[in-house]
Amino acid sequence: MKQLFTNHKVSLATLFTGLVSISVILMVLIIMISSYQSEKETLTETYLSANYSKSSKISQSVDSLFGSMRLSLEGTAAFLQEKDVLSDEEIQKQLELLQSSSRYFNSLSWIDETGCVRSIAPSKIGLRGQVITTGETKKVLDAKKPALTEPYIGPSGRLIVLMSQPLYDKKGQYKGMIGGSIYLHEENVLNEILGNGAVDENGSYYYVVGPDGTVLFHPLQQRIGLDHTSNPVVHKVMQGQSGTERITNLAGVPMLAAYNVVPDIGWGVIQQTPVSYVQDVLLNHMKELAVRVLPPFLLLLTLAIMIARKLAAPFIYLAGLMNQLASGKPAEVPKEQSHWNREADFLTKSVMIAVKAVQENNQQLTRAARTDPLTGIPNRRELNEVMESWAAQRRPFSLVVIDVDYFKQINDTYGHHIGDETLKKLVATIRSVVRKTDLYFRYGGEEFVILFPHTTALEVYSIAEKIRIAVENQIKIKERSVTISLGISEFPRQTSSLPELFQFADSALYQSKAEGRNRTTISY
Ligand code: GH3
Ligand code: MG
Ligand code: MG
Repeated sequence: MKQLFTNHKVSLATLFTGLVSISVILMVLIIMISSYQSEKETLTETYLSANYSKSSKISQSVDSLFGSMRLSLEGTAAFLQEKDVLSDEEIQKQLELLQSSSRYFNSLSWIDETGCVRSIAPSKIGLRGQVITTGETKKVLDAKKPALTEPYIGPSGRLIVLMSQPLYDKKGQYKGMIGGSIYLHEENVLNEILGNGAVDENGSYYYVVGPDGTVLFHPLQQRIGLDHTSNPVVHKVMQGQSGTERITNLAGVPMLAAYNVVPDIGWGVIQQTPVSYVQDVLLNHMKELAVRVLPPFLLLLTLAIMIARKLAAPFIYLAGLMNQLASGKPAEVPKEQSHWNREADFLTKSVMIAVKAVQENNQQLTRAARTDPLTGIPNRRELNEVMESWAAQRRPFSLVVIDVDYFKQINDTYGHHIGDETLKKLVATIRSVVRKTDLYFRYGGEEFVILFPHTTALEVYSIAEKIRIAVENQIKIKERSVTISLGISEFPRQTSSLPELFQFADSALYQSKAEGRNRTTISY
């Protein structure tokens, strides 16, 4: 029988398990992806708004710093204006006092209305006496009003920002200006005040640009003085806007940037966080989420697989049972099987009923194949099996062959029906004589065989004779006796070959017939 199950088809258990696993894995993936997305947006918003409030705070600090610087210059100018005589020494003294006490400015100078540097603190700078005729310093001087310059290269060759305050004497005569310089590349008030905490441990940092987009303060010294106008955020600050934006900085790093304008002076403060930091945070969150989510999901998966297997089990069992039945092997049919799944229960019960019916039918057929329909006793097929089994167990027994005498005549004279009746009566007579342990068979035609376990041929002889006499006395057709002839052989005393055992009994029977019938002969 060809196997009904082929290997390239998917099994039900695999199918169920596969489906359940895929659903659970997809579920986890969807949860992870959606929480990644929302987390990413939330984190981005959080950092943008945190950056915005920080840049706004810093812009306020810068604003108040410059307010204080302006006040100090105004105060000095006002103090000097009150003097009756404005001597160079007096102004030098005041400038040195202001320079050393406040440290707002890297240097303070008095440039008179002609452009001559009359005083400078600290004096070691050595510009005293020089006359300035061009450039930013000269422009501011001629403007005769308070100003704060764009960064420019000052008379000392440094990149500076200059805050100027016009100076008038008591009579209201213009006496030039007091200028406070911030040296952008050296230690100055900006990096003193802003320098602390300019870079966070998460990589966030801020920098300050002037109204023309030049960098005035930056945690990286080498960026100071560079033109940042190409940066979209700097561009917006230059237009007086404040806000937040995702940008890529000059080094090509994606950033979450917030920008604020320092109102009075038009400077911009930009605070930004590398997007990579947010991604790191996000990754850590995802890892934590995975650690939290995975155990229950693994549990769910295991549970689902177990249920899937349980669900598939009855179908797999039934398929196996059917395959076994189809291949002709005897199948063990279990007793009542019940399943919590309705279809499985129904199918199992139906299959069990069908299998039972088939098996009963088979048993009936087997029984029929081993039974003689006329007399109802086992036939030659059963005889052979019994003898083979006894021989295998080396169980000693004697065999008697019986043949009805002149049976052809009976048939011919009284008809087949009477012949059949005679055979039935013969069986009844045998049954009445033998013991329960003795087995008798219809060998074919009007020949019968009796097996006597654990009995010698000699012992059997008297039983055989009993049968012969009973038949002669009891079975009569119209007053005429029916007789039988018998032959006896013994296993294994005579032979341990079953065909030979038969020949021996047959020869004995032949001898009975030859000697006149209606007699019993033991094979020698
Ligand atoms: P012998 O004494 O030598 O045995 O003579 P016999 O007539 O019995 O000879 P044989 O054994 O050759 O004849 C057997 C006959 O038995 C032949 C057949 O017609 C008859 N017979 C065989 N089976 C049946 C059966 O089932 N019913 C009936 N009625 N007759 C059968
Ligand atoms: Mg015969
Ligand atoms: Mg006969």
